[in-house]
Amino acid sequence: MTTATDNRSIQDKANEFVKPGHLLINGEWVEASSTLETINPATGEVITTFAEADAADVENAVSAARAAFEGKWSVIPAARRGKYLAKLADLILEHGERLALLETTDNGKPYFESSKIDIPFAANVFHYFSGWADKLSGQTIPSRSDAFMFTRREPLGVIAQIIPWNLPLVMCAWKLAPALAAGNTVVLKPAEQTPLTALALGELIIEAGFPPGVVNILTGRGEVTGAALVKNTGVDKISFTGSVEVGKEIMRNSADNLTKLTLELGGKSPNIIFADADMKSALRGAINGIFYGKGELCCAGSRLLVERSCYDEVVAALKEAASGLQVGDPFDKKTRIGALVSKEQMERVLSYVEIGKQDGATLITGGERVAFNNEFSEGCFVSPIIFADVDNKMRIAQEEIFGPALAVIPFDTEEEALSIANDTQYGLAAALWTNDIKRAHRMAASLKAGTVWINTVNMFDPSLPFGGFKDSGFGRDLGEDALDGYLQTKSVWVDLS
Ligand code: ADP
Repeated sequence: MTTATDNRSIQDKANEFVKPGHLLINGEWVEASSTLETINPATGEVITTFAEADAADVENAVSAARAAFEGKWSVIPAARRGKYLAKLADLILEHGERLALLETTDNGKPYFESSKIDIPFAANVFHYFSGWADKLSGQTIPSRSDAFMFTRREPLGVIAQIIPWNLPLVMCAWKLAPALAAGNTVVLKPAEQTPLTALALGELIIEAGFPPGVVNILTGRGEVTGAALVKNTGVDKISFTGSVEVGKEIMRNSADNLTKLTLELGGKSPNIIFADADMKSALRGAINGIFYGKGELCCAGSRLLVERSCYDEVVAALKEAASGLQVGDPFDKKTRIGALVSKEQMERVLSYVEIGKQDGATLITGGERVAFNNEFSEGCFVSPIIFADVDNKMRIAQEEIFGPALAVIPFDTEEEALSIANDTQYGLAAALWTNDIKRAHRMAASLKAGTVWINTVNMFDPSLPFGGFKDSGFGRDLGEDALDGYLQTKSVWVDLS
């Protein structure tokens, strides 16, 4: 267990590793005129202060990014860009423990998730894209004898990247790595709830030797720093991950500038258990699908569709499994559900418990604030929530809760499962559990989702694209597709007649 003294030392460590009140602009830590506080959601204590960039800071960062793009970054060999990324990946691993400590303190997620999954995955993503930097080629188009025609794939320029609080360092990697590999420069804005690992990454970016201005990091609130970045006319593209409402606002606010956009928005992902599935794996997948990361994942399997013949058995097993998950100190090895990211988020999640009950769903477990009589008494802890007998039309089945809340929905046929799964505004991900290979492929082809997992859930690889269908957005993170989003094609026609 972590003690109060340990928590204080965590705060000291946070202050050692990041520069409170500073922004990374043009390779230097620049003091900002105003600051905000970031809170440890497990204790309610202030961890440290951080800067809020205003429109003038945004302008400076965008100008620095522009100068780097037109200058040094555009002339260094592509392989060198890759080397910077590989070096950054190595530094992330080297400083993994400290990064994981900051991540868990800032976000509330269990330390084993930060240290064993998130931080190594962020490094993997930088390693993967480091290899792409010198492999981006165009085509020669041999369709005429009187011309030599070819295409070049060129970077877009200055990219604004706005990311959420659920996977703070992982999101930095998803956004920065492909944009930089493709030769762009970046102004990155982390979420105001979790700025610390992005700031720590800024230190590592300096240490890796990136030329000044290639990566600028601006902290601050969405409506202040984010909005100024979105409206800045020097930005060539915005890549955003976050809520549908903010995604729409960004689209509206950048429309006059015709800024290119990639949006990775929310989800209400179906996790479908057929009666012929390997039940042990399916149950584990159902639990991990929603409770990993406290359910604060855009791809969380928040709707569990269960074939009626095994419905009662599944609901009983889920109840037992969920009530056995330890909620509490994120630094305790046995904890599976840490603190929700903020009081606001906790209240939002608890409000859906009332909404679910009012709409007639059966709350079979959880749904209460977990109270501790020690340093965690102010923590944002909620016991894992499972609603059974949910109708897909209910708000708890249609609205993204972004917390540890599962809605279990029965179905009778494959056709019905598909129709319920697709009956949502979202289309980010889906998972299904079956031993019938033909059914698995039929479903994979018909589910309207950017990712389909078969007999597994929430698995990511840097080489596999991730992004949404329908209101879950457009454009892709990860894989070769992510690079496409940061490149534009130029066609060149050389007259040979
Ligand atoms: P979540 O629902 O995960 O909190 P949000 O969509 O509210 O996600 O926030 C995701 C990111 O978008 C954060 O970095 C936040 O600061 C930023 N943001 C919020 N509002 C705006 C805005 N109006 N313009 C630009 N960025 C914004």
